Amino acid sequence: MPIDATQPYDEHNIFAKIIRGEIPNHTVYEDEWALAFHDINPQAPVHVLVIPKGAYVSWDDFSVRASEAEIAGFVRAVGKVARNLDLVVPGYRLLANVGQHGHQEVPHLHVHLFGGRPLGPMLAR
Ligand code: AMP
Repeated sequence: MPIDATQPYDEHNIFAKIIRGEIPNHTVYEDEWALAFHDINPQAPVHVLVIPKGAYVSWDDFSVRASEAEIAGFVRAVGKVARNLDLVVPGYRLLANVGQHGHQEVPHLHVHLFGGRPLGPMLAR
């Protein structure tokens, strides 16, 4: 079920548990600001989720409340993950779902990074 992006942060969401090390993940990158790991249900040959370490529900929440250092750290981490995975050429796609219409299911900000094949048009037509 998609979430309401204005809900308060839920410390028990699955990505909060991953950050705390309470449930396993296949990490591809980690630094002070971000964690990147393989999506459990990949939609492309490469499907990685990049999440900030801080407690933010969505891109909307992050853009309002995160510090400049958190925002810079997170954005730079997304770029590093793509470069580390050798995706800059031939290219990749970033996607952040927000709230009901965005079909966001996990209430901790995550950016999907897709690659490994031509990804087609941006949205289903
Ligand atoms: P969204 O619809 O943008 O909220 O996407 C949530 C994503 O999280 C989906 O692509 C799920 O496959 C993925 N996901 C859910 N639980 C896990 C998990 N434990 N480890 C990795 N990915 C997960």
